[in-house]
Amino acid sequence: MTVKLDEKLEPIFQDVLHRNPGESEFHQAVHEVLETLGPVLVKYPEFADKKIIQRICEPERQIIFRVPWQDDSGEIHINRAFRVEFNSALGPYKGGMRFHPSVYLGIIKFLGFEQIFKNALTGLPIGGGKGGSDFDPKGKSDDEIMRFCQSMMTELYRHLGEYTDVPAGDIGVGGREIGYLFGQYKRITNRYESGVFTGKGLDWGGSRARTEATGYGTVFFTHEMLKARGDSLEGKTVVVSGSGNVAIYAIEKAHELGAKVIACSDSQGMIVHERGIDLQTLKRIKEVERRRISAYTEYHKDAKYVEDGNIWSVPCDVALPCATQNELNGKDAKMLVENGCVAVAEGANMPTTPEGIIVFQDAKIAYGPGKAANAGGVATSALEMQQNASRDSWTFDYTQKRLEEIMIDIHKNCYETAAEFGAEGNYVLGANINGFLRVAKAMNAMGVI
Ligand code: NAP
Repeated sequence: MTVKLDEKLEPIFQDVLHRNPGESEFHQAVHEVLETLGPVLVKYPEFADKKIIQRICEPERQIIFRVPWQDDSGEIHINRAFRVEFNSALGPYKGGMRFHPSVYLGIIKFLGFEQIFKNALTGLPIGGGKGGSDFDPKGKSDDEIMRFCQSMMTELYRHLGEYTDVPAGDIGVGGREIGYLFGQYKRITNRYESGVFTGKGLDWGGSRARTEATGYGTVFFTHEMLKARGDSLEGKTVVVSGSGNVAIYAIEKAHELGAKVIACSDSQGMIVHERGIDLQTLKRIKEVERRRISAYTEYHKDAKYVEDGNIWSVPCDVALPCATQNELNGKDAKMLVENGCVAVAEGANMPTTPEGIIVFQDAKIAYGPGKAANAGGVATSALEMQQNASRDSWTFDYTQKRLEEIMIDIHKNCYETAAEFGAEGNYVLGANINGFLRVAKAMNAMGVI
């Protein structure tokens, strides 16, 4: 790891390494938070005495189970699934499910750990958790996806509940998968417990603006960072990595706020379209046809497809990593800064490596870490839970307004916390400390549990 830890925190980190061997993404996520907590222990020595940090680093519960399912030809497959219920000091465990072949315990733990602080930052009553499976949904038929989801829920249901643990989507888990998962939960429990899952369809308990929320929220946060520097998104050139749920709606909101998104990508290549990415085409390819992004050039001959292209080499004013963890390294960060990039906001979780973060911070550009910048998704999930609890359904405009207010608040809280701890403009420190303090105070109040 690149930054040295405070002497009180180094032994805690060594213990995390020792207890969680081989889980490099989890180590990275813990280190990034511990790097900023030194001043907190000076101001709040009781948190050291009560071993709050050690307790936060150990999940309350980790569930690992087998998911057997049959493909369309009758062949049996076995996947492994996880649900890590990390921290419930502020509310029921809340965090998405990820379906991707790279999933293993270390990925779910990094995501669950980040989720604790992100959820605290929203100011809403939600704890932190995360789940997923090494199942690869690519190339599977709808029936295969359904059988997999039903088999997964046949075990998972016993650990969930609107007051216990409330999953949502993430990479590889969108509206279709949530439908199958929720349907099986309803069938097994014989309860229409809407608040047990978020990201549901609008006709069966979902919230308007939830699909858009993470991408929109990331752009609202970017706008706030620019405003704090006397600037705005108007007229800015933007690149967005990924072309999934977060990326698509980040592009939509960036366009609405007067910026021009000129590049996006998937795991095989990138599209550069200097005239501006055409969102209708992108949505059709990704949300309806479920094809590779290379298909974009069939509709726009003036766009360029670059197989395995590095999206961070495309000159831009604003970069929004919206694909996956560690997709932007130190070299990429240097390239962005040298090309004049003034703001980076993370729609994805932990997309920038520790080396990349140092480059952005040294260059003093506006850098919004995922915990803060992409918290709009889970915040709107909590709004979905509120609507479910009151059997209400809000309008799109009202829900979007609530989302925007939450993002403005998160920005303000991160900014002010960073300033209070002598690091004005450092959103990493601001987000970590602000989120940590909310959780730590609640844990402290509840005793040694
Ligand atoms: P998604 O709809 O499945 O889209 C993921 C996108 O990222 C796809 O374009 C995918 O390309 C690309 N991608 C995935 N793995 C990749 C890899 N290893 N290398 C390169 N590209 C890769 O997922 P999503 O919901 O947008 O999530 C994207 C990120 O946002 C994740 O980090 C997630 O944790 C985070 N996030 C999501 C939400 C939410 O509400 N959905 C909330 C907060 C944070 P392919 O199709 O080629 O794989």
